[in-house]
Amino acid sequence: HSKKNKKNTYAIYSKEMDITTTYNLTIERDLKFAIPNKELELYYQPIVDLKNGQLKAMEALIRWHHPELGLIPPSDFIPIAEESGQIIKIGAWVLQTACSQWKQWEAAGIPPFKLAVNISTKQLQCDSFVDSVIHILVETGFQPTWLELEVTESILLDDVVVIKESLMRLKQLGISISIDDFGTGYTSLSYLRQYPFDKVKIDRSFIDDISRDMNGKRIASAIISLAHNLNMSVVAEGIEHDMEFQYLMEENCDEGQGYFFSRPLPPHLLQLFLHQQ
Ligand code: C2E
Ligand code: MG
Ligand code: MG
Ligand code: MG
Repeated sequence: HSKKNKKNTYAIYSKEMDITTTYNLTIERDLKFAIPNKELELYYQPIVDLKNGQLKAMEALIRWHHPELGLIPPSDFIPIAEESGQIIKIGAWVLQTACSQWKQWEAAGIPPFKLAVNISTKQLQCDSFVDSVIHILVETGFQPTWLELEVTESILLDDVVVIKESLMRLKQLGISISIDDFGTGYTSLSYLRQYPFDKVKIDRSFIDDISRDMNGKRIASAIISLAHNLNMSVVAEGIEHDMEFQYLMEENCDEGQGYFFSRPLPPHLLQLFLHQQ
């Protein structure tokens, strides 16, 4: 009897694995056509000043409209794009599209704000990365001082010298560097002083913990103080509730992002938000 159960369990597992593998293979195959077929789109999510509610930045977040599978979230295809090397082209498309969009907002008379763009480790490891950024900035006429590149803690683990040098070159151009999802990866605190970060984005799991108990509050406060003591500004991601917003504001967190302010939206739905500014 138990043997039969075991067999059934195994069958279920292997079926799930098959589905996942097929899905991933489909993604890898079809991703090659996503740019030429114009299936990629950028959504933007506001980042606001917690003191006065003013718009400080917009973060570009990629979406893929697959012809058969529908809307595919970045968590499903960015890791595959990184594995297959397609992230280099996709990353360039993201930066080019976001900078062009920003220039359109500027031309429409909207007061300027920073543009935050996520960068994968695989892009930073590429020798030509900084040159490709410069190329896109020149092509779109985008001023580097309005650009913030968001990197995750995983960059800190490989090719330390190469990555540090690229980050320094980007900073010399006037671009700011943020560390995304702070606190979730393998970073030890000493990385914070070794790398030239301008901004720390507290991972949203810590923001969730604020309403859980006193320790959740203390950890969020400690991250804010740590960043400020190292002369970095702090953004809280994933603010969903008024209570989290109030607490972070009292603790002098500089900026906030989350469904409480706005979900990520396609440009045509952001008009309202932009005109309220
Ligand atoms: P991220 O850079 O940390 O972006 C924040 C994610 O949290 C976004 O998910 C956003 O929709 C979500 N989020 C924002 N506010 C809230 C909130 O209040 N509650 C909750 N539950 N979630 C919130 P999204 O758009 O699915 O992106 C997921 C991740 O995919 C991003 O995390 C980023 O690491 C990666 N990603 C997105 N776009 C790009 C891109 O253009 N290039 C690269 N390399 N990675 C990207
Ligand atoms: Mg980000
Ligand atoms: Mg994040
Ligand atoms: Mg939350």
